[in-house]
Amino acid sequence: MACTAEGVAAALRAAAEVIAEHRTELVDLDRAIGDADHGENLSRGFTAIVSALETGVPETPAGVAKLAATTLISKVGGAAGPLYGTAFLRASAKLGDAAEIDVPLLLDALRAALEGVQARGKAVGGDATMVDALIPAVSAAEGAADGTIADVLTAAADGADRGAESTVDLIPRKGRASYLGERAVGHMDPGARSTALLLRAFAEAAR
Ligand code: ADP
Ligand code: MG
Ligand code: MG
Repeated sequence: MACTAEGVAAALRAAAEVIAEHRTELVDLDRAIGDADHGENLSRGFTAIVSALETGVPETPAGVAKLAATTLISKVGGAAGPLYGTAFLRASAKLGDAAEIDVPLLLDALRAALEGVQARGKAVGGDATMVDALIPAVSAAEGAADGTIADVLTAAADGADRGAESTVDLIPRKGRASYLGERAVGHMDPGARSTALLLRAFAEAAR
């Protein structure tokens, strides 16, 4: 699928489905080390994005990303809404007025999303957050720069899967899970898992 505004909208609809399918899993991950709402928070946010797209798809990929950002920021409480919102907002700013996203632009947008999450949440790699999924996602995406959009997103999703897996052994240093300290070891970070799910949904949508 071409990465036009319609393509990005389709990817967000696919992401909403995947998040709805994994809502309970994300709630359970968050129950173990947080407050059991991550699946709720994200499914509410992505359902709201789908509704917003029903009233009209913006003209550019940047416009669609911005709609996702403002919806997540306004509809999702907790840590993840503003963090994912910032990721989409920074990506949107990079996309500018392009009618279609090509591989270099996608890589810029992914890097900007990671930078936005880190600027907002101040987490670094190893803190056991969504940043631990995003960092290997971005580097794997950069490694696939010779491929198609779908190849780049598949590499990103693979990187995010590995990164999410790595959070199991980490002591959380940011967000609610940090209150548990060492007692959180042995559990995957819910936000790292949702990042991997979102990137996988985008990759599948791009095929
Ligand atoms: P809350 O913790 O407010 O209930 P969620 O459960 O929706 O919010 O989201 C929790 C996720 O947010 C965590 O699993 C983690 O990945 C992410 N997170 C929390 N704080 C930060 C931070 N400072 N930087 C990056 N990610 C964070
Ligand atoms: Mg929570
Ligand atoms: Mg909460």
